[in-house]
Amino acid sequence: MKETKSTCPYCGVGCGVVIQSEGGQITGVRGDPDHPANFGRLCTKGSTLHLTASAEVTRQTRLLHPMLRERRDEKPLRVDWHVALEVAADRFAQTIRAHGPDSVGFYISGQLLTEDYYVFNKLAKGLIGTNNVDTNSRLCMSSAVAGYKLTLGADAPPSCYDDVNHAGCIFIVGSNTAFAHPILFRRIEDAKAARPDLKVIFCDPRRTDTAELADLYLPVQPGTDVMLFHGLLHIMLWEGWTKPDYIANHTSGFEALKAVVRDCTPDLVAQTCGIRKEDLFTAAQWFATSPATLSLYCQGLNQSSSGTAKNAALVNLHLATAQIGRAGAGPFSLTGQPNAMGGREVGGLANLLSAHRDLADPRHRAEVAALWGVPAVPEKPGKTAVEMFQAAADGEIKALWIACTNPAQSMPDQKVVRRALERAEFVVVQEAFATTSTCDYADLLLPATTWGEKEGTVTNSERRISRVRAAVPAPGSTRHDWDIVVDFGRRLEKRLPPRAASLFPYTTPEAIWREHRESTRGRDLDITGLSYALLEQSPQQWPFPAGATEGRARLYADGVFPTPDGKARFAAVTYQPLAEPRESRYPFSLTTGRLRDQWHGMSRTGTLGRLFGHVPEPVVQMHPQDLARRGLKEGELVHVTSKRGSIVLPAQASTELGPSQAFIAMHWGSEYLGGLSSTGEPLAGVNAITTSAYCPTSKQPELKHAAVKILKA
Ligand code: SF4
Repeated sequence: MKETKSTCPYCGVGCGVVIQSEGGQITGVRGDPDHPANFGRLCTKGSTLHLTASAEVTRQTRLLHPMLRERRDEKPLRVDWHVALEVAADRFAQTIRAHGPDSVGFYISGQLLTEDYYVFNKLAKGLIGTNNVDTNSRLCMSSAVAGYKLTLGADAPPSCYDDVNHAGCIFIVGSNTAFAHPILFRRIEDAKAARPDLKVIFCDPRRTDTAELADLYLPVQPGTDVMLFHGLLHIMLWEGWTKPDYIANHTSGFEALKAVVRDCTPDLVAQTCGIRKEDLFTAAQWFATSPATLSLYCQGLNQSSSGTAKNAALVNLHLATAQIGRAGAGPFSLTGQPNAMGGREVGGLANLLSAHRDLADPRHRAEVAALWGVPAVPEKPGKTAVEMFQAAADGEIKALWIACTNPAQSMPDQKVVRRALERAEFVVVQEAFATTSTCDYADLLLPATTWGEKEGTVTNSERRISRVRAAVPAPGSTRHDWDIVVDFGRRLEKRLPPRAASLFPYTTPEAIWREHRESTRGRDLDITGLSYALLEQSPQQWPFPAGATEGRARLYADGVFPTPDGKARFAAVTYQPLAEPRESRYPFSLTTGRLRDQWHGMSRTGTLGRLFGHVPEPVVQMHPQDLARRGLKEGELVHVTSKRGSIVLPAQASTELGPSQAFIAMHWGSEYLGGLSSTGEPLAGVNAITTSAYCPTSKQPELKHAAVKILKA
């Protein structure tokens, strides 16, 4: 039996795994006892990974050969790689020549490895000359990115997992950590068991399993987080719990923020957020006066039409109380996906460039152009996720390349997404699994390798870079994502006006990574002191500049921030109501979220019967009073309808929710949860009814709230 160290491909905790294999087949998996993210532990998803890679599952679910269809009414037929990539290069080159570089778009994924991400970004921005490259990380972390940059000056989570062991108060907000980041939650449980005086505050519209550990639960109304955070600061100011010296020496903009929070009185905040004034006071006291306060937050803040404001308002609290830059203290955004961080590092988003550079900055564009040896990178911002599919639906984007993600299930307002996929003239889907809904729309399917078969790197929530390793050979005709992009890029280079000698000289993922490493020199995420060889020995946190002997666990210990004056900036953001508030015709607040044992659209976890033991079927959860008031019984079918569409599923009573709230898990796709759009087209999953309204700064959609009505089916 062979053992290969790698990482879990699911959540942003980034646990290390040891893959066991025999005869080219994965046979087992265990937690890597040496990996600092998990020290050998795995959750239900991670510990069953090997079963999702069995020969039987591979046969039934994997895309193993390139498939091409000439016409939309035909079934795709198997072709070889040369034919597949020649057709792709021809179609993309024709589209670019006829309609310009912005007529094509790339929608990629936080599941990709950093090396894959890097070459996709270079393909779009370096070769084609479009910034139309965005990713499902837009749906995951873009509000956290924007919040950090607005306040701290750089997209860098300042804390680390070990801070759980040093915190006196942990403020968990908008995160069902128990389900979404289970191994990190085990750490919090251990810390609480070892130090019962550790205060845990949990703030979320749903009283999820995470609340079980909390000393104080704040059941806020959906979308009211900014009001809550401003209310906490109002009390801190009134009680003298802020840190004037820290504010004076290390921050700017506090007076403007004070003027905003002045009106956020405890009465107003308690009423708006739906919580008790006493609890608001207790939360403010624990947060401000604890020796060290750590905030952990995720999609409840990010997936919001005011996502950037929510993130910034929380960081404000840490700056005002000097709860940052020390062991146990800091605002710590939890990454949803395994490598959303890596994607941000290489600039794989429509508004970013390599190594945390900004597209809007001419100096940064010039630096990246010099690095790649091209005359320029385009200035015009690319289309972000929602914008990209809207542009395709409008006929503006004519060729789409989708890799390692399933927008026909996971994007909000599915009617628009499906119209986009139908209207686009050429759709390439680069995928490991043949079972995703998006595959049905592909003109060209390109089979990619996946977990246990790939080599490269990922970065987890605490800025820790780990090596991902192949334990078994690529099955069928599958190829690595980076290799597919490089081959396509070389073919496209021959068809477009020359920009550089060769943008894709790589023969290994390590060669790509070395170029990425060089791009970080002198930047906040400088990793010029790292190598694949060092990462083989143990995962490392960035920054890790040349000459360093270890990465930096915590940032901003010196109180100096990466802003022009070295000071962090308070953000005087204002509370904005939800994009689609409840109203008489749509009287329920629908929230969405994860289940404990499923991942994303279930393409991997859905292959295992045992992972349905916890929750076997889709349901809509409602407060028991709401069921009774509507004469509904547990298990009865109901229509859940928004302005965009309707789905039918059983109702389930749940006291996790308050009255007038409803919850549906995000994972269920077309084989489990059918629905119709408002104009009668068949749709599936909860995103038939969610809204694509997004934060004006981060462009992250409000997947966490839609106004719905619920009626007996
Ligand atoms: Fe995988 Fe996340 Fe579970 Fe760790 S906590 S085993 S990374 S799913």
